[in-house]
Amino acid sequence: MILEDNYRYKGMRKSLVKQLRDKGIKTEQVLEAIQKVPRHFFFDDTFLEYAYEDKAFPIEEGQTISQPYTVAFQTELLAIQKNDKVLEVGTGSGYQSCILLELGAKVFTVEYQKKLYQRVKDFLPTINYYPRIFWGDGTKGLPQFMPYNKIIVTAGAPAIPPSLIHQLKEGGILVIPVGSKQNQIMIRITKKYDNQFKKENFHTFSFVPLRGEEGWHDQ
Ligand code: SAH
Repeated sequence: MILEDNYRYKGMRKSLVKQLRDKGIKTEQVLEAIQKVPRHFFFDDTFLEYAYEDKAFPIEEGQTISQPYTVAFQTELLAIQKNDKVLEVGTGSGYQSCILLELGAKVFTVEYQKKLYQRVKDFLPTINYYPRIFWGDGTKGLPQFMPYNKIIVTAGAPAIPPSLIHQLKEGGILVIPVGSKQNQIMIRITKKYDNQFKKENFHTFSFVPLRGEEGWHDQ
């Protein structure tokens, strides 16, 4: 497959960015990252026209590439600083990882499904994005590289996995959708210096279920 970016796609991204601004995304660096990453590279040839709609889209293995608004919202909540060490749970298509890399983060991303992991591992270097990609249960985090400045979970959790809180640096931020299998509230946890936590609730989203030891167990 030949991947090409051009003025038409750049124009489509520009109108997507405008939509996101209208929906309340304010952080300029986040909007710039969305303007930069060619989301259509993550789509099959036959579905290219859907790449810049503000909608989630099915990828392999019954999973999805998150809606651009959701990616922007979670990324905004993370308040990424250059060189932040970021753990992403749920690599999926790899798109969110690219957005984090554009913001100057060092990205460690974990995917539960081996096929998706393998695909992203092969694909991202071909479009010049280099996160560190792992296959495994992200609810346990990646203890070998802790602590993280920021942790983002991109699948719906039944509860906040304690391992993730543990692997967060003091002053760090965890953004995670928590709720039922159908709907989740976006939660932001900020780990304070005295091991206290600040917890903020945002609005409702609808993610695919988080699996693994501290996720949903039934199929
Ligand atoms: N961030 C992705 C969207 C991911 S969809 C993107 O930008 O495209 C959610 C992903 O989380 C799915 O690929 C799913 O397989 C994965 N997932 C679910 N439970 C997981 C777990 N315990 N650890 C790691 N990944 C998990």
